[in-house]
Amino acid sequence: IGEEDARYVVSLIRSIPGFPKEGIVFRDFMPVLADPKALGLLFDALERTLPVPADGFDAVAGLESRGFLFGPALAARLGKGFVPVRKAGKLPPETIGESYDLEYGTASIEIEADMVRPGQRVLIVDDLIATGGTAKAAADLIRRAGGEVAGYSFVMGLDGLDGIARLGDVPVTTLVTMP
Ligand code: AMP
Repeated sequence: IGEEDARYVVSLIRSIPGFPKEGIVFRDFMPVLADPKALGLLFDALERTLPVPADGFDAVAGLESRGFLFGPALAARLGKGFVPVRKAGKLPPETIGESYDLEYGTASIEIEADMVRPGQRVLIVDDLIATGGTAKAAADLIRRAGGEVAGYSFVMGLDGLDGIARLGDVPVTTLVTMP
C-alpha cells in the first residue's frame, strides 16, 4: 500500500499509556478494524508483505485473542485454512499444550492435536510482538504437533525488546514498528 494509505492506517492505532499496568503503552488496533477503509488497507498490507510467498505455507495459525482478528481473514484471502492457538483450558480433548514464562508467572497455550498435519507449513499471525515469548511458544507448539513454522506476520513490532531475535532463523514481517 502507498505511504499515504499507510500513514492513514497508523494514525488510527490508539496508544493507551499505563494499560494494562504502569509502564506499558497499550497499542489498540480496534479503531483500525472499525474503519472500513483502514480495515481493507490493513489486509492488503498484510497480504503484500508476507514473510514468505503464499505458496511457501499451507495454513495460518493465529494467537488468541487478537491474532484471531487478523489470522482468519488473511487465511481466507490466501485460500488457506486457519488454526486457532488458544489459551489453555478452552478446547475439548485431545490437545497439546505449551507453557511459557511471562514477566510475572507463566501462561499456557493449546491447539487441538489434529489441527496440524505432519509436515504442514504454518504461518503464525498475531497483532503485536513484544518480547516474542508468545510467538515462540506458539512455534514450539506447532513443531511439537509435527508442523513446520514457515514465517511470522505481525501488524506491529515493539522496538528495543529483541522479540524477533528470539524467533530464530525464520522470516518475520511487521507492518509497523513503535517504541
Ligand atoms: P510477547 O509475548 O511479549 O511478544 O507479547 C505479545 C502478546 O502480548 C501479543 O499477543 C500482544 O497482543 C500482547 N501485547 C504485548 N504488549 C502489548 C502492547 N504494548 N499493546 C498491545 N498488546 C500487547
